[in-house]
Amino acid sequence: MLPSLFISHGSPMLALTETPAHAFLRGLGRTLRPDAVVVVSAHWTTRRLTVSTSARPETIHDFRGFPAALYDCQYPAPGDPELARRLARELNAVPAERGLDHGAWVPLSLLFPEADVPVVSLSLPTEWPNAELVALGEKLAGLRRENVLVIGSGSLTHNLMALQAQGAATPAWVGEFTDWVHARLVADERAALLDWEGAPQAKRNHPTPEHFQPLLVAMGAGGQAERRHHSVEHGVLAMDVYAFA
Ligand code: ZN
Repeated sequence: MLPSLFISHGSPMLALTETPAHAFLRGLGRTLRPDAVVVVSAHWTTRRLTVSTSARPETIHDFRGFPAALYDCQYPAPGDPELARRLARELNAVPAERGLDHGAWVPLSLLFPEADVPVVSLSLPTEWPNAELVALGEKLAGLRRENVLVIGSGSLTHNLMALQAQGAATPAWVGEFTDWVHARLVADERAALLDWEGAPQAKRNHPTPEHFQPLLVAMGAGGQAERRHHSVEHGVLAMDVYAFA
C-alpha cells in the first residue's frame, strides 16, 4: 500500500536546480508507480473545499521574478475527471476547472518526469481548523489501497522574508521548530500536532499557515511518519519530506 507524502517544495527553482532535495525527489519517484495522484498544495487555498475536474490541467506559473527557463516548463500530466467527480461527491467538494500550481507540478515533475500519472488537485481550505484538515486526510486514506498517491505539498518552514543566499547557514530558530515537529511526528503525537502554532518559533517559521497545513492532510491520510529527506535551502527553507506508511 502506498504511503501518503508530505513534500516541502521550497522555491520553484527546485524544478531546475540540482539540490539534495531535487535529487531525493527524483530518486523517490523511481520507487513509486501510482495509478493517480491526489495533491493538496499550499498554492491553491479556498474557503470551500474544491476539486479540479480538468482533463488536461494547464501548468500554472504562479510566481514572479524567476529565470525564463522556469516559465518554459510545462507539466502535461492528464487529470482524472472521474476520480475528481467521485471525490467531489464523497468529500462534498466543489468541482472546478483548475490547472496545476507550482506546489503541485514542481515536485511532480521530479517524481514523475514523464508526466504519465494522472493528477487531481484538491484545494487547501486554509480557514479550516487543524482537526478538520487531519480529518480530510483520513477521508483520503482509503485511496492508498487503490494505488492512488496522496501528497500534501507545502514547506516544513516558510518565512520568505528571511530568505538568504543558497548555502547560507541555518539560524537556530529554524531547527527549533523542525526538531519539535519531527519529535511529535515520529512519536505519533497527533494531538500535539493539532496545536502546532504553539510550537517553538512556529510563527517565525510560518508567518501564514498555508505551507504547514498540507502536512496535516498528509498525516491524516497515512500511518506512522518517517522522515525520508532533510535539507535546508536559502538558509531557512526546510525541504523535509515525510512518508506516512
Ligand atoms: Zn510554496
